[in-house]
Amino acid sequence: MNFNHYFTNEEIEAHLNEWVRAYPNLAALSTIGSSFEGRPIWLLTLTNLATGQAADKPAMWIDGNIHATELAGATAALYVSNQLITGYGQDEQVTRLLDTSTFYIVPRINPDGAGLALAANPKFIRSGVRPYPWEDKQEGLHDQDIDGDGKITQMRIVDPNGDWKVSPLDPRLMAKREPDEQGGVYYRLLPEGLLEDYDGYIIRDPRPLQGLDFNRNFPYEWKPENEQFGSGPYPASEPEINALVGFVTKNLNVNIVLTFHTFSRVLLRPYSTRGDDTMNLDDLWVFKKMGARGTEISGYRNVSTFHDFTYNPKKVTYGAFDDWMYDHLGAYSFTVELWDLPTEAGVKDRKFIEWWRDHPHEQDLQILKWIDEHGEPDSYLPWHSFDHPQLGPVELGGWNALYSWRNPPHAFMEAEAAKHMKWILFLAEMLPRLQLHTLDVQAFGTDTYRINVVVENTGYLPTFTSQQSKARQAVRPVRAELTLPEGVEILSGKRRVELGFLEGRSNKSDTATVYGFSPTDNRVRVEWVLRAPVGSSVKLEILSERAGSLHKEIKLGIE
Ligand SMILES: [Zn+2]
Repeated sequence: MNFNHYFTNEEIEAHLNEWVRAYPNLAALSTIGSSFEGRPIWLLTLTNLATGQAADKPAMWIDGNIHATELAGATAALYVSNQLITGYGQDEQVTRLLDTSTFYIVPRINPDGAGLALAANPKFIRSGVRPYPWEDKQEGLHDQDIDGDGKITQMRIVDPNGDWKVSPLDPRLMAKREPDEQGGVYYRLLPEGLLEDYDGYIIRDPRPLQGLDFNRNFPYEWKPENEQFGSGPYPASEPEINALVGFVTKNLNVNIVLTFHTFSRVLLRPYSTRGDDTMNLDDLWVFKKMGARGTEISGYRNVSTFHDFTYNPKKVTYGAFDDWMYDHLGAYSFTVELWDLPTEAGVKDRKFIEWWRDHPHEQDLQILKWIDEHGEPDSYLPWHSFDHPQLGPVELGGWNALYSWRNPPHAFMEAEAAKHMKWILFLAEMLPRLQLHTLDVQAFGTDTYRINVVVENTGYLPTFTSQQSKARQAVRPVRAELTLPEGVEILSGKRRVELGFLEGRSNKSDTATVYGFSPTDNRVRVEWVLRAPVGSSVKLEILSERAGSLHKEIKLGIE
């Protein structure tokens, strides 16, 4: 499979079906629901079915392409799927992780929007195709490929009050006009497009017709349109998001979430809406440990969205997926912003957001030179005259952002996805995992049996995932249950026993010393005494929502 590629919806469907056909014991295909236009939202479930069902194992969630043009997210999710599937039986770690855990992978949450970006005559929208908040196009300039070259680039128009000029460094580039600059030739820079209700004078920047942002539609601190653009009429109002929210609230084994976006080369973690000082410290330390390993592996920085990825600290973003998964469900969630053109071009340590407001113009040239050498032939187009049906003579050209800024040029796609594979395996290693430590049955006489069971969590995370899930009561304690056939009687113990929460190795930071004390708080013991005829078969179940469940048959009185 070639991962220097952006997949159409049909190609994704074909690959998923092929995997399921070729690897029936590892891969299962289903949908979590349908998009607004009725396209299936495919879910690939990966686990070794010979060692247990997907629902009986701790899980990691991976998705991509919730935002329409962020096609790299879908390719990255497919790349990870392929590494897992083809690594089984070849790679010791991948094999062990597929034996003991589940990966839920949705390569493309937004098939409608991605389909538009990939079309021969493309259209770039933020998320969903449903007109929102209004049904009609507002007055102003709307993006469109007007010269029919299959690209949406830029338009420049000479205007004495323009805020751009031709760059002194390279005539192809545009540079910002200085505040005191007079007497030159200046331009307005606009996206290629057509005007709605143009009166011959006023060019407005309107709300887009399709103004939804799916990653503002989640129930955590959801806010209406005046506080959060594109959030939708109510939380999870959009079918894509409703499907996602429905799945993860029914499949509670998800402990860790990774959602692929573009761009910036950063691993973002909660919160978007408030600072680290408001977070539970144990959880913050776990997040930092996870993020630090990610940075070590991929070189991507790991930051809190609130502290380092906010346009304006007074205007935060609400209703995001990672925040919701952590805040309401207690799952450790990261948004991976794949690719960064300036960084790839050698711009060092750029501040993610401030850079857009102001940076040395030489860096624009540095980026253009990188594109000249490594980009696609149409990543940056020469300016050429065009007779605009409404504006008259303009020039079209400049950035064609889809496979330069928004996504890696094709040749760089696979390498960008590959940077995260080892981190994903590292995160999967951290999942809580329930195991039977001891199961012994002692017979007294011919009809009395003592069943001694010790269960342990062998994972790094506790069986409750995070302090946040415990505080939210998002996860039930571990439970033990016996199912007894007729004629079997419990002399001591209860049929259903609550075993509580089992710790992992994660929440030890506040008691850490160099000489150490490691209590067995990952372990619990339960005992029953039964009266039963020889040969009775008793079913023992240890049930955990996050750490997996165990199902055992115990034959009494038979060695
Ligand atoms: Zn995004």
